Amino acid sequence: MQSKDLLQLTEQFGSPLYVYDAEKIKSQYNRLTKAFSKVEKLRINYAMKALSNVAILQLLKEMGSGLDTVSIQEVLLGLHAGYDPEKIFYTPNGVSLEEIEEVNAMGVQINIDNLSILEQFGTKHPNVPVCIRINPHVMAGGNTNISVGHIDSKFGISIHQLPHLVRIVENTKMNIVGIHMHTGSDILDIEVFLYAAEILFDAAKNFKNLEFLDFGSGFKVPYKKDDIETDIEELGKKLSKRFNAFCTEYGKELTLIFEPGKFLVSEAGQFLVKVNVIKQTTSTVFAGIDSGFNHLIRPMLYGSQHHIENISNPKGKERFYSVVGYICETDTFANNRRIPEIKEGDILSFRNAGAYCYSMASNYNSRYKPAEVLWMNGQGHLIRAHETFEDLLKNQIPLPLAEKV
Ligand SMILES: *Cc1c(COP(=O)(O)O)cnc(C)c1O
Repeated sequence: MQSKDLLQLTEQFGSPLYVYDAEKIKSQYNRLTKAFSKVEKLRINYAMKALSNVAILQLLKEMGSGLDTVSIQEVLLGLHAGYDPEKIFYTPNGVSLEEIEEVNAMGVQINIDNLSILEQFGTKHPNVPVCIRINPHVMAGGNTNISVGHIDSKFGISIHQLPHLVRIVENTKMNIVGIHMHTGSDILDIEVFLYAAEILFDAAKNFKNLEFLDFGSGFKVPYKKDDIETDIEELGKKLSKRFNAFCTEYGKELTLIFEPGKFLVSEAGQFLVKVNVIKQTTSTVFAGIDSGFNHLIRPMLYGSQHHIENISNPKGKERFYSVVGYICETDTFANNRRIPEIKEGDILSFRNAGAYCYSMASNYNSRYKPAEVLWMNGQGHLIRAHETFEDLLKNQIPLPLAEKV
């Protein structure tokens, strides 16, 4: 997408604005399937919590993707977008037995991540095909916020509890069809991932009716210049070989599943904002934009560094800026960042705004959530209108006017 297209979109749809490039989503999807082309049965389930707009779900469905969901509401959105229930996986954490039963009744593959629910579910529904989420306790990535495989994590059934797990399965005679792991966002080191995979293969040998192994996700994409990204091609080569060998050993062609979110949509997204004010203080130059952590919280929540471009003045002389939001709260997007000279009214673009950006947006400060546009075949399609005052009032119940407060 070119700057002139992006500028035109902000004129047409206003700012702030989320824009997603369909081609980039497609090329990432194809890159992943190609890397694993040696695996006979491969399945990609898009982790929709990254970006859950129905149009994005439809786009991925057209490419052949399944869905990975973490709540019954995500399941409903997936069904609404036209996915067959068999194409939907449900990998919740800490949800009630009732919700799991409800999702199972919709024909969706459930994935259980604790022994208590496993025992209860297995006792009540021994014939339902169930997947088990294992925690291999592997530290992937550096940030404890996003490493879910380590020992203190709330995710998955600890690999050290395997004997208890196997006992529950034997006692209830439940039908285990899949083993799953998701070690966390941001796999930097393929060897770490392969190590975790070995733990999964070992665990899998305890179950005789498996149909698939689900390796979750955590593929890292570059956020800023010189960032390392997961070498998908290398991972594809090594894991495919190992997976195929395991299938031979197991005596059955299993399906290999991945459930990427960030990898598929992160780089496809840009968040376009307008600069409201340039404020020079004794120590810094602030560029204050018409957005805040109500629209994009990753920098404040995870310390993520989204690359920022000044698309109104891309060739301008670079100067140092702190880019901040308009929320009454510290909401710093970038500190002392070198950006081509910014004037009030310029449009800035945050890159990597496809994953965990809009889907984490809120109405804090009673601001509206922005619109979303899908860029496809050289055209911008509005896929979500920006909110209006009615949206803020929706579901609010004022006191009757006559009542004295
Ligand atoms: C969030 C999540 C994913 C996707 O993770 P990414 O880092 O966005 O690829 C996959 N599987 C499960 C179970 C998740 O919770």
